[in-house]
Amino acid sequence: MKFFSETTPWYKANFHTHTTVSDGRKSPEEVEGFFRAAGYDIVAFSDHRKVSPAKIEKDFILLSATELDTLYGENRECFHIIGLNIPADATFGDLPKDSHPQAFIDRIRQLGGIAFLAHPQWSLNQPEDIVALKGIFAVEVYNTASTLPNNADRADSSQILDLVARKGHLIPQIATDDCHWYTGEHCRSYTMVQAEDFSVNGILDALKKGQFYASQGPRINQVEVIENTMTVSCSECVTAIFYSNSPWVGNRSKITPEGSTEYTYQIQPADRFVRVELIDKDGNKAWLSPFAVNGAENKFKYED
Ligand SMILES: [Zn+2]
Ligand SMILES: [Zn+2]
Repeated sequence: MKFFSETTPWYKANFHTHTTVSDGRKSPEEVEGFFRAAGYDIVAFSDHRKVSPAKIEKDFILLSATELDTLYGENRECFHIIGLNIPADATFGDLPKDSHPQAFIDRIRQLGGIAFLAHPQWSLNQPEDIVALKGIFAVEVYNTASTLPNNADRADSSQILDLVARKGHLIPQIATDDCHWYTGEHCRSYTMVQAEDFSVNGILDALKKGQFYASQGPRINQVEVIENTMTVSCSECVTAIFYSNSPWVGNRSKITPEGSTEYTYQIQPADRFVRVELIDKDGNKAWLSPFAVNGAENKFKYED
């Protein structure tokens, strides 16, 4: 089984950024200029509780977007939900700031948009609460803004998401900058999307189908599983780590200081899911979403 088409084009995307429309420090025009210059194909301005306009060109798409936040329940559980492809006249003022996050997801979907859960590590979301969310297409495994110097070191959500995956919910993972333009957190973490058609519908369709991976630099060319051998082909990296539900697996971390463009892993009999992190010589990572192995059920299902 091959994970990716070998003929369908890839597009570079940042689905989470802020501008002066909310608490970002650069104007929408400046932000657009940065991402265009950095070679991005798709960007979404997800200002807090504001809907950004879409802009569709032949080789560059701004998806309309918003970020909705809530502190829910007596423990004031923090959830930030990003909506993409939101009508420009949509408002969310009737949803109070202590709404259950499902209300935001449902509204985004009713409006024809798609939703993902932002930065669960920063928010300190509980695995059982993430599992309960219905109708998200993805979750952020990494958001660049949630680390030093403007935050504590909580950009990496992979451990919380491993607990979610341990429960059988293999939610596809994206990376974003969540940039507020503080001190260089822009154009660092992104999502590579494989879409048949470079249009809003083509991109949404690819996202709903999970045709993407998260990265800060390494490129994933192909992933193939033949019987119990998994092979990842990539741009040159120095480390590949094969994570699974199994606490101990010998030789799961492949360390190749000389550089390698291919890594293999023997899927273990007790593995129920596997995911991969690649690291290049500069410390940039790529993340392949968890997937089910050994006939295990994936309880995450995206339904339109
Ligand atoms: Zn947020
Ligand atoms: Zn944000």
